[in-house]
Amino acid sequence: LASRGCVVEDSAVAVGPVRFGGGGFTVIAGPCAVEGRSRLRRIAGLVRACGASALRGGAYKPRTSPHAFQGVGQPGLRDLRDVGRGLGLPVVTEVVDVHTLPQVVEHADVVQVGTRNAQNFPLLREVGRAGCPVLLKRGFGCTVDEWLGAAEYVLAEGNDRVVLCERGIRTFEAATRFTLDLSAVAVLKHTSHLPVVVDPSHSTGHPELVRPMALAAAAAGADGLLVDVHDEPGQARCDGGQALRPEGFRALMADLVPVLHAL
Ligand code: PEP
Repeated sequence: LASRGCVVEDSAVAVGPVRFGGGGFTVIAGPCAVEGRSRLRRIAGLVRACGASALRGGAYKPRTSPHAFQGVGQPGLRDLRDVGRGLGLPVVTEVVDVHTLPQVVEHADVVQVGTRNAQNFPLLREVGRAGCPVLLKRGFGCTVDEWLGAAEYVLAEGNDRVVLCERGIRTFEAATRFTLDLSAVAVLKHTSHLPVVVDPSHSTGHPELVRPMALAAAAAGADGLLVDVHDEPGQARCDGGQALRPEGFRALMADLVPVLHAL
């Protein structure tokens, strides 16, 4: 169902007025985690003013350590929904388990399945049954075929609103947090009709690497980006070390224009 053999034309996933795939370039931006309504509103206003089309933010965070900040939970979902609606930005947020899926579906416009759940097949089936738009991140240990297999679990439940997100894979290279596999974008453009966006933030783990990798993703044919932005990265409760400051995000959005124009 995910392959070009099944659907020849590029698929587009519409989320309200926003489209992923089908020729446009869609930027999702926001903090890694929701940290309260006023900060979220501030960051959302900034990214919208810079041209982002959708707001990201985790209310439930899948952390490596159980002792690390796990997200603010349900109040964060409400903050996302209200701030997103107030600014006319669709909201993308992660679901971490089947128990909280109904809450997430109720509040989010796009349900994100993160790298750590990319092969959680029961969760993928439930997300498929929920029928909501899905942002499916690549498992950091998954081949492209395994990633498409994960997408197939969602599609097989009758939900064809799947957007893939390349977010880096685990390799021997330690200079970046993960290795962003931009060749996967080119491969997917041949083998699959699904839209593909790229996350230069979680993959590189360094704000100074976000811009070059984001521009390279656009040049490689990605349908959009997912970018961490924080107004005070030093204060962030989660992954502040990779977030762009608003001025960095503004510069990136301006730099994308000639790259997209040249394609
Ligand atoms: C995220 O986007 O908030 C996230 C945790 O990403 P990943 O699953 O790619 O690590």
